[in-house]
Amino acid sequence: MRASSYFIPTLKEAPAEAEVPSHIFLIRGGFIRQLAAGLYEYLPLGFRVLKKIENIVRKHMDNAGALEVLLPILTPSELWQETGRWDVYGKELFRVEDRKGRMFALGPTHEETITDLVRKNIRSYKDLPKNFYQIQTKFRDEARPRYGLIRGREFVMKDAYSFDVSEEMAVKSYNLMKETYRKIFDELGLDYLMVEADTGAIGGKFSHEFVVKVPNGEAHIVYCEKCGYAANVEAAKYEFELDKLPPEEEKPLEKVHTPGVSSVTDVAQFLGVDEKKIVKTLVYILDDGTAVAVLIRGDRELNETKLINYFNVLDAHLASSEELEKLNIVEGFVGPIGLDIPVYADISVKDLHNFVVGANEKDYHYINVNIPRDFKPVEFVDFSTAREGDPCPVCKAPLKETTGLEVGHIFLLGTKYSEAMKAYFVDRDGREKPIIMGCYGIGVSRLMAAAVEQSHDENGIIWPESIAPFKLHILALNIKDSQIKDVAEQLYQKALGMGIEVLYDDRDISPGAKFKDADLIGIPYRIVVGKKVKEGKVELQKRGAEEKEEIKINDVEGFLQ
Ligand code: ATP
Ligand code: MG
Ligand code: MG
Ligand code: MG
Repeated sequence: MRASSYFIPTLKEAPAEAEVPSHIFLIRGGFIRQLAAGLYEYLPLGFRVLKKIENIVRKHMDNAGALEVLLPILTPSELWQETGRWDVYGKELFRVEDRKGRMFALGPTHEETITDLVRKNIRSYKDLPKNFYQIQTKFRDEARPRYGLIRGREFVMKDAYSFDVSEEMAVKSYNLMKETYRKIFDELGLDYLMVEADTGAIGGKFSHEFVVKVPNGEAHIVYCEKCGYAANVEAAKYEFELDKLPPEEEKPLEKVHTPGVSSVTDVAQFLGVDEKKIVKTLVYILDDGTAVAVLIRGDRELNETKLINYFNVLDAHLASSEELEKLNIVEGFVGPIGLDIPVYADISVKDLHNFVVGANEKDYHYINVNIPRDFKPVEFVDFSTAREGDPCPVCKAPLKETTGLEVGHIFLLGTKYSEAMKAYFVDRDGREKPIIMGCYGIGVSRLMAAAVEQSHDENGIIWPESIAPFKLHILALNIKDSQIKDVAEQLYQKALGMGIEVLYDDRDISPGAKFKDADLIGIPYRIVVGKKVKEGKVELQKRGAEEKEEIKINDVEGFLQ
């Protein structure tokens, strides 16, 4: 590709809102442009990288026997009604109406759609197992779209869904995906952690997040280098934000009518209070029949994923993790005010005055709840301080701490969707049973940002070879010098002939500007054709490495091989 006819609109300055390296360099390097909040255009260079990531993901999914499909982006609301998620999903769901008044959602994920496809087309155990995947644009109306490709409102995801006849088989499918994800992230050249999460519901370790280690990432992780344990401690980060609330005097407890509001965001909006003041209460029944309540501040919907995180947090801090494994979740979230049960409270809740909890009654909430005035805690548990150096809950070695970016998430769903949507199969024994499902996501476009977060210097991107937009960058330092031009041209043709993906900077601009652009866009190998051609030599460089190597023009071919 000749730079003179290509399109790489590099910029000296990043836009003001770009705070993190990937956002800054992907914009400055001419990979992407913003159209509106959370919406990005992929320019030619950026699209090449995106396709490379897609292809690596695709290759490994195909190798694992998953079957690629393409599902409609529009998803009928009726399907979401069947699983109850039309109401639960909240404002993140982009809802659209067609000309006849029928409602749809722009797919943020496709469990409903794929389950519908399967229930209509799969009847027998003979048709199973199956794993369907797609690589497609997803839509989520994120509350805070930010950091460029890291949190978009429109983004590319690989989502896969497995269907099995038994839990045992489903676990096999799950484990295969786990291994496949490792292969994918290894080939992408990323430094990542697989973060274990205990679902409780199924009684095993069947949800994992794949988190790329980056400074200032949104996911907060403690991990053990010795035994491989890793847990997401999102709560820790949240507490930090809570500290910023001003101190307050206790106000009298009040029960208020909150018709039709339930999600944290809606309650906060309705009552005009900060979301951080809304505390969720989860009630657990222990094996011996005693109930315990756990208070958790939440600014998020308590879907299973979040529960898992809390399990991990609990796991890390309660004296006996065995006891916790025995916990069964009671349906729903119950405000324990007035209930005579012990309360395990997040220790930081102790310091939170005048917070809000559900009143264990439809359309009512308590405001101005205070601890210990209104809750009678038997024990405060510090959920939020799993920190560097704390003992690993598995092997007791000191934990390490990092922040990261969630780039993948796998989950054994069980029969949640198949039961809600009646996706049954007829088993070998002639009986109808719900299909056991798993789901597996990868943030394809987020991965592009994650790679840059992990691999850059002050001058720009250093692409891992596997996803670099081009492998080789030839710079002709002075295109007006016919000797330089001839040699550069000749090397360019040679590289093309060898099937190497090469960008040839044949523009008539200063050498300084060429070097700046080359560093910014981060192509792994560089051949600089300058004055040394008179001595029959060019310079070889690897992006990110200090050394330069002078080699004879005639030796370049050998180097390229
Ligand atoms: P997050 O915790 O970052 O909000 P999530 O847990 O909501 O992500 P999943 O539903 O697990 O996301 O989706 C699968 C993958 O899609 C995530 O692991 C992530 O890599 C990617 N992803 C999710 N939301 C976004 C987004 N707004 N922009 C870009 N990628 C995203
Ligand atoms: Mg999310
Ligand atoms: Mg997440
Ligand atoms: Mg997730």
